[in-house]
Amino acid sequence: MADVILKNVQKSFGRIKVIHGVDLDIRDGEFVVFVGPSGCGKSTLLRLIAGLEDITAGDLFIGGERVNDLVPAKRGIAMVFQSYALYPHMNVYDNMAFGLELAKSSKAQIDAKVREAARMLQIEALLERKPRQLSGGQRQRVAIGRAIVRDPKVFLFDEPLSNLDAALRVQTRIEIAKLHHDTRATMIYVTHDQVEAMTLADRIVVLNAGRIEQVGTPLELYHHPANLFVAGFIGSPQ
Ligand code: ADP
Ligand code: MG
Repeated sequence: MADVILKNVQKSFGRIKVIHGVDLDIRDGEFVVFVGPSGCGKSTLLRLIAGLEDITAGDLFIGGERVNDLVPAKRGIAMVFQSYALYPHMNVYDNMAFGLELAKSSKAQIDAKVREAARMLQIEALLERKPRQLSGGQRQRVAIGRAIVRDPKVFLFDEPLSNLDAALRVQTRIEIAKLHHDTRATMIYVTHDQVEAMTLADRIVVLNAGRIEQVGTPLELYHHPANLFVAGFIGSPQ
C-alpha cells in the first residue's frame, strides 16, 4: 500500500511562500501528473514528497505513515530527475547498484536486480560504460534503471523527457507507461507538456502559483475545466 496523502502542505523559502496549502489524495497504484507553468511549484512539491526539502507546515502520509520527519531513503520512493543526476566517475552498473549498496543488500541480490532492470530497459550492453560515453536517451534509461532496482512503492519523475529529442520522448514515454503497468507502483510525474500529461495520467493536478487549480482525469479537465487558467493549460477549445 502506498497511497500518498498531502494535508494542507505548505513550503516557504525564507519569507517567501511557494506552496500555499496543498490537499491531495493519491491512490495506491495511481499515475498522477502535475502540470503548470514554470515556477508554479511542481518540482518543489515533488521534492517535499521525496524528502529532499523540509515541509514548512502540513502533513504528508505515504502508505499510511506520516513521513514529514523521515529521511528520503526510508520513504519507499525513488526519484528520476530531468538532469539524470548520474555519478560521472561510476560506470552504469555501479550507478544503478549504488542505492542498493547503501541499503545493505547482498552482492548477489544487487547483481540480480541490476541485470533485470538493465534487461527491461535494454541497456545490458552499456553496463561497463561511464555516463559521458552515453547518449542523452541512454543516460535517462540508466536514471530510470537506478529507480527501478530499488523496488519503490512510489516513483517520482521530474520532467524526465525534457532533455530528449522528439522521437526519443515518445519512445521513453511509452516505456514509462509500461513500467507503470508492470509494477503497478504509484507514480507522480511532473511535466509542462500537455501531451505527456493527457496520455500518461490517471489524474492530472493543475498547479498555479503554489496552489491547486483543479484535479481530474484528462477527459474531465478537457471537457470541464474549472476556469480559464485550466482551459488554457489543457488546451480545450472553448
Ligand atoms: P517548477 O518546478 O514548477 O518550475 P519550482 O518548484 O522549481 O517550480 O519553484 C517554485 C518557486 O519556488 C519558484 O518561485 C522558485 O524560484 C522557488 N524556489 C524553488 N527552490 C528554491 C530554493 N531552494 N530557494 C528559494 N526559492 C526556491
Ligand atoms: Mg521544475
